[in-house]
Amino acid sequence: MIPDRLRWLVEPGSPHLELAERFVAAGHVLYLVGGSVRDALLGRHHGDLDFTTDARPPQIKEVVAGWADSVFSVGEAFGTVGVVKDGRVYEITTFRSEVYREDSRKPRVVFSDSVEEDLSRRDFTVNAIAIRLPEVEIIDPYGGLADLAKRLLRTPLDPKIAFSDDPLRMLRLYRFVAVLGFDADPATEEAVREMAGRIEIVSAERIRDEFSKLMVADKPGSALWGLVRSGLADLIVPEIPALAMEQDPHQRHKDVLAHTIAVTEKASPRLRLRLAALFHDVGKPATRAFGPRGVTFHHHEVVGARMTRARLRELRYPKDIVEDVSRLVFLHLRPHTLKMGWTDSAVRRYVRDAGHLLEDLNELVRCDVTTRSEKRARAIQRRIDELERRIDELMAKEELSKLRPPINGHDVIAYLGIEPGPMVGEIMKMLLERRIDEGPYPPSEAFEMVRRWAVERGLPDPGPPPVGADDEG
Ligand code: ATP
Ligand code: MG
Repeated sequence: MIPDRLRWLVEPGSPHLELAERFVAAGHVLYLVGGSVRDALLGRHHGDLDFTTDARPPQIKEVVAGWADSVFSVGEAFGTVGVVKDGRVYEITTFRSEVYREDSRKPRVVFSDSVEEDLSRRDFTVNAIAIRLPEVEIIDPYGGLADLAKRLLRTPLDPKIAFSDDPLRMLRLYRFVAVLGFDADPATEEAVREMAGRIEIVSAERIRDEFSKLMVADKPGSALWGLVRSGLADLIVPEIPALAMEQDPHQRHKDVLAHTIAVTEKASPRLRLRLAALFHDVGKPATRAFGPRGVTFHHHEVVGARMTRARLRELRYPKDIVEDVSRLVFLHLRPHTLKMGWTDSAVRRYVRDAGHLLEDLNELVRCDVTTRSEKRARAIQRRIDELERRIDELMAKEELSKLRPPINGHDVIAYLGIEPGPMVGEIMKMLLERRIDEGPYPPSEAFEMVRRWAVERGLPDPGPPPVGADDEG
């Protein structure tokens, strides 16, 4: 009996059946395996199909020759051959009994002739189910189906050995907690607590990629708690568990860690925004001070932005993510410092400083409200509503996103007859400041300002503004 969710597997004429029949004709076996089986059984969408076979890479290539549109190399050293057919990707990997990635410079893999052995080396039982094709026979030696039903993540063999073989699996555990919403089996989590230190040998790039997948899951909250509980967070994002120390006697900022995780979970699942949410308060422990009116964290956004940049660099995030996230942390208090009401120039300045991060920044500020006081929360949300309304209004009127002075650097150079250089930069900044403070003004007035500026500095008087200066404004 084939469960309904697997019906598509036996759809006559489907390409994976053609593929399987070719393997069988050549005297081999082919299994669908890993995330594609797990997601098929859960009724979740999964992009590409992963297979495992007894055939070695050269034989795999022979079998698919004439059928595949193209064959590409994924990791032949690991036994994986990539195949494209009608725009779909099929990754086919030889059964393996050992895969070492980290403890030697060269990747090392030991091939196997048994699918059970291959499955035993996979990370979790729910990822260690194979479906033999074309028969659709389910191979589940480690109780993966039962764990799928229990929504439980467990290693097929002793977790300590599994995590010692490839410590990245500890982080994958919480990645799947986040993405699938499953629980970590207690013995498996206990093993993470014992083995956490081993994560040190894993490359920053592999850690970053798993961490990013965790961060953009629907609900990353329980995975983040798991990272903290297990001690893994101390090793990959130590700034986060450090927030748990942030007790203050008046209890007003009792639990910055709980607040941080709540804010992160509330934010939309965009990597940049989620990372900013996770890091927005990391400057608090270092800036905490006790004054007559309770605890303060002056300039924690400045310190936090610096800490964020250092951590994300360490994790080898690309430069644009490092800069964007750190800037969001730096700006996350801005709307609060302007609670007295927003002048036009304050709105323009906010838009200019946020730049392309405006949408993320506004959402971060909204999510940052986790106060239990309904009244306070409503007041803050209203203030942000008001800010967004004002931004829309000014945008419509002034195209704020293109905020620039009425004349450009070339105009200034030509008018003063000077070389490009820092002087031009200083003048442009002055012209932009006025644009921000007062809104649009005509080019003739800009030239007037440049003229006054030059004369005040003892430069030759450039004379009246060029004729027709206002025509193009
Ligand atoms: P998704 O592709 O949805 O992120 P996945 O389960 O397919 O999830 P991949 O990283 O694509 O995850 O790996 C494919 C399969 O390979 C896994 O399901 C698992 O069986 C196995 N696997 C991947 N990485 C490891 C690892 N570090 N240790 C053991 N097995 C692994
Ligand atoms: Mg996959």
